[in-house]
Amino acid sequence: MTTSPPPIPSVSWKILFVVCLLLASIFPIQIVPSAERSRPGANGHVSGKQGEVLWINVPISQPKAKVNGLFLKRKIPFFPHGDTNFAGIVGIDMEDPPGIQELSITVHSDTGTDHLSYSVLIIREDYTVQHLTLPKNTVDLDAKTLKRVLKEKKELTETFHHIGARPLWDGPFLEPVNGKVTGVFGSRRVINGQSRNPHSGEDIAAPKGTPVQAINKGVVVKTVDHFFSGKGVVLDHGVGLFSMYFHLSEIDVTSGQTIQKGEALGKVGSSGRATGPHLHWGIHLNGSRINPYSLTSLPLSNE
Ligand SMILES: [Zn+2]
Repeated sequence: MTTSPPPIPSVSWKILFVVCLLLASIFPIQIVPSAERSRPGANGHVSGKQGEVLWINVPISQPKAKVNGLFLKRKIPFFPHGDTNFAGIVGIDMEDPPGIQELSITVHSDTGTDHLSYSVLIIREDYTVQHLTLPKNTVDLDAKTLKRVLKEKKELTETFHHIGARPLWDGPFLEPVNGKVTGVFGSRRVINGQSRNPHSGEDIAAPKGTPVQAINKGVVVKTVDHFFSGKGVVLDHGVGLFSMYFHLSEIDVTSGQTIQKGEALGKVGSSGRATGPHLHWGIHLNGSRINPYSLTSLPLSNE
């Protein structure tokens, strides 16, 4: 296990560390090297763009403490990290309102309960607009199809309710497949001239049959065959972090199975509503939709 702070990658805008402020004697100030932009400003806040992940270190040397965060009404579980820290990953949803928001952290320990409060400045991301033309019956849904789509959406949302107490991941996150990004996270979609929901993941084009690998260790929480997303796999990585892999031609895992980082989950395809073979890669983090590439930039060490 390394004790020195992890190196900061060059694409540091994707990574943000919160420098903890002194609020009680059990929380000494900890300065974590970070990108210039993510250092607290004169008014003490840190900043992150819509769709980014914040990695939060809180110096607490009581491993039995219970630490929970709250950000925009979303609960954030914290977990022991090293001997003297708790850590948490906070997602800024792609549509969270720009401006200053509070991140509050509650620490229950042998010495009582402490409340920490930080300001996070959410910066607007400049999303692109993507125009798509698709078969009419896959855009203007009939009543039966609409009912199916709503049921599938509800099913998927329910899979995110299980919040594991500990992270299951093991070192840095990987890309699930090599290919060309053809559908950018957050892009505003205009389909057949109609404004639709923004794109909540990354689309990576690759030949049909290309193996899709797990971006990190996790448990298969669900496999699906949905109208829009086709054949897909949802992996639970613990502490409210889920990765999703859609439009597969083939699923090679089953629910409940533990998957190692890099293990094949299935193959690239164009099942569901897709214009060609590609992987839709999505991340759900405690109620927020996150840019998947903000996870691969997390400076996690192999322990
Ligand atoms: Zn997509």
